[in-house]
Amino acid sequence: MGNVFEEFESNVRSYCRKWPVEFSYAKGSTIIDSNGIKYIDFFNGAGALNYGHNNEYIKGKILEYLQSDAIIHSLDMYASAKKEFIEYFEENVLIPRKLNYKIMFSNPTGTNAIEMAIKLARKNKKRNNIFAFMGAFHGMTLGSLALTTEKAAREGAGINLENVTHIAPPYYMDNTFDTIKYIKEVLNDDHSGISKPSAIILETVQAEGGIYAFEKEFLRDLRKLCDDEDILLIVDDIQAGCARTGTFFSFERAGIVPDMVVLSKSIGGYGLPLSMVLVKPELDIFNPGEHNGTFRGFQLSMVSAKAGLEFMLNNHIEDEVKRKEKIVKEYLDKNIKPLLKDKMQIRGIGLMWGIDFNDGKLSRKVLDKCFENNLIIELAGRNDSVLKIMPALTIEDDLLLEGLDIIKEQIKNVLK
Ligand code: PLP
Repeated sequence: MGNVFEEFESNVRSYCRKWPVEFSYAKGSTIIDSNGIKYIDFFNGAGALNYGHNNEYIKGKILEYLQSDAIIHSLDMYASAKKEFIEYFEENVLIPRKLNYKIMFSNPTGTNAIEMAIKLARKNKKRNNIFAFMGAFHGMTLGSLALTTEKAAREGAGINLENVTHIAPPYYMDNTFDTIKYIKEVLNDDHSGISKPSAIILETVQAEGGIYAFEKEFLRDLRKLCDDEDILLIVDDIQAGCARTGTFFSFERAGIVPDMVVLSKSIGGYGLPLSMVLVKPELDIFNPGEHNGTFRGFQLSMVSAKAGLEFMLNNHIEDEVKRKEKIVKEYLDKNIKPLLKDKMQIRGIGLMWGIDFNDGKLSRKVLDKCFENNLIIELAGRNDSVLKIMPALTIEDDLLLEGLDIIKEQIKNVLK
């Protein structure tokens, strides 16, 4: 057989077009293809592998569980692995942060949890509309896609995407847009034509939108605005959560408490699927079974999720991210900033950084050159013009610097 993927798999496949090799093995922050070629991984399973590929500690717990014939599939029946995850999450994540949330497990991918959150917000406030931000990515199923802004993704919907109003974020119009003032005016103007939303949803760091970390003050002002106007605040922490920004939840840096928090990707610990919505108890008003799904509560993911949290806490990963943030920031400022021209920019927080070339062709050239030099790295943002640096939080310092060196050399190559 020739290339079975090209021959038999749908045209919809995408990442494989950037890295057209067959991957076979992976460990930590390296991936090996079927010809034995090793790559440094700055893609990190799109954020699902914060603790690296095949993390030894988490793998041990998974293998132990599998060997024991413990229950794997149980929908939302009571199950021991789920109990242990919930207890651990309560005691080690929520209680130390004085957060009081009920946990809703959704079907396993991020978009499933977003659907659940917005459905619950609408049910609570009895308003159809939701505000989302331009540059947002919240998933590809119809409810989430209505929140997502990328034109090509929206065009795939095939129907009107409704009941969402997109608001310009503060970085709009060269950082001059007063988002909070605009929302207030719109809400209080009986001629704005925009109906009051049940919720405002945001990623505190827009990831697919091109790595825009919102300022603490903006997040606080938004929280206050939501309180004043009786609107729910939903934080989509699917990509920026799980210690990626240096604290377990990305909103901790602003000291705010959202009404709902959506987690997926790295909450599964090992790249196994798990998604959940944290919801303030008074909003927990779905009737039993009103939102449902066969793969809610996949027990192996409960095991890997608990092990992932244990690994994160035992290895002080939040502090490690803060330490590595400095390494990356210093490296980019010293070695890459001087190479950039005109409107090119570097942005980021924690271990999620973007180099914005303001030109999708240039960023793609850099990506291709990085791949030729054994670095797996992804693009994001408007016209895919942002090179997205998102290594595992566990990456060794020398490998991190090796990857950054590849980027530097290839930017030099492309921009010369
Ligand atoms: N929300 C954010 C912030 C994301 O980054 C993603 C995926 O990249 C999603 C939602 C959708 O998650 P999934 O692809 O698992 O449906």
